[in-house]
Amino acid sequence: MSDKPAGSTAGRIVLTGAKLIDREGAISGPSTIIIKDGLIAEILPGDGSGEAAPKLESVSRLGWSPGDRVIDCRGHFISPGLVNLHAHSPMNIFKGIAEDVTLEDWFNREIWPFESNMDGDDVEAGARLAVAEMLDYGVTAFADHYFEAGRICDVALETGIRADIAPTLFGMAGDFNDQLAAAEELIRNRNGEQGRLSLRLGPHSPYTCSPDQLAMCAESARSLGVGAHLHVEDDLAQIEASRELYGMTPMEVVSRAGLMDNPLIIGHAYWILPEERVLLKENNWIAVCMMTYMKLGYPPGPILDDPGDLPLCIGTDGAASSNCLNPLEQARLLALAGKSRQGNAEAFSLRTVWRMLMRGHDALPFGTGRLIPGDPADLVVWNLDLPHTAPAYNPLAALIYSGDARNAEHVLIAGDFVKEDGRLKLDTKSIVREAKERAGGILAKGKGSTKLVF
Ligand SMILES: [Zn+2]
Repeated sequence: MSDKPAGSTAGRIVLTGAKLIDREGAISGPSTIIIKDGLIAEILPGDGSGEAAPKLESVSRLGWSPGDRVIDCRGHFISPGLVNLHAHSPMNIFKGIAEDVTLEDWFNREIWPFESNMDGDDVEAGARLAVAEMLDYGVTAFADHYFEAGRICDVALETGIRADIAPTLFGMAGDFNDQLAAAEELIRNRNGEQGRLSLRLGPHSPYTCSPDQLAMCAESARSLGVGAHLHVEDDLAQIEASRELYGMTPMEVVSRAGLMDNPLIIGHAYWILPEERVLLKENNWIAVCMMTYMKLGYPPGPILDDPGDLPLCIGTDGAASSNCLNPLEQARLLALAGKSRQGNAEAFSLRTVWRMLMRGHDALPFGTGRLIPGDPADLVVWNLDLPHTAPAYNPLAALIYSGDARNAEHVLIAGDFVKEDGRLKLDTKSIVREAKERAGGILAKGKGSTKLVF
């Protein structure tokens, strides 16, 4: 399928004859996309075979040369890359370690005790495993939230994925000021690195950080010119506990602290109440991670009843609660849960859910998410002619209800192939081997004592 001339890396990439799926879910084409210097240089109409087609001769008129890489994409679809707007990538190393347990046990008896014995090498191995998984699914950017965040920055740059990383801050751990100072230093040193890294502050949540600590984060984020990323309201019980403690809902606590005045990624808000919606401001985004809510047995949240004009995006959460970092799978579960909850097959339509998948680009500062000349070439070439997705009468249905990593034939980030002809550019065997070795070490160390209580 690919025609790779020798020494093609310095030339252009020409993706001929694919149909295009834009951020609204509209399908057009076929078209030919020319990529140069990491950007979409041109989009020409035609499929390479008809009258209006930019056969390679016409591409040649525009300066095509044997050094260019030309890929026949006829019959395929090209969309902007997928975004995972809420992850804890190192937790891939815990996948399957705490199953069929309550939320309280999941935190207090399993995850936090194991995490307390985790070191930087474990973090790095888990993050590398997660990035390999995400690239396979066509994820070109993700927003992460974890400690040892510098190690995750290293993994992102090494693998080529775009990453928005929030060093996690726990208020109840007793050394909050030190954590904040370290996070500020990391942000100052690495924000914007190579155009692929963005950093922001990561207070864990209003139930593990005090209102004063959240206000310190808001002030720090403002002075650093960055945003924040935290968890809010995944469950009704958190709202009730906050009302008892502060006389306010968690969303009101976050708003009062000033965090909503800055760019803000809110993990979950599954239980955002109708009266809290007015608190959200421009550049506040909600990452819905449906598999976590279903697996941990949360009662159905109000966003299923009425998503309204909430700025919903798709996240996966960490693999310890969600097991799967495929945004398409999470979008699928959200659509199904919403239709089921409302008893309405027209709710959470394919277009609506696709827009949620694409909206994650707006929440991140990379300028990606559109198929227009001059924008970064962060793209997925989808092959839907596979047994589980053909005949794809409706490409959005094929992707959202049936799609998986097998369909992501080529994945490009800033014009670089991170997956080509269905194969990742990473050494997945050694990544899996390293993760298994680290996982064995974690089990051998066992559960430590944690200063955290849920
Ligand atoms: Zn989370």
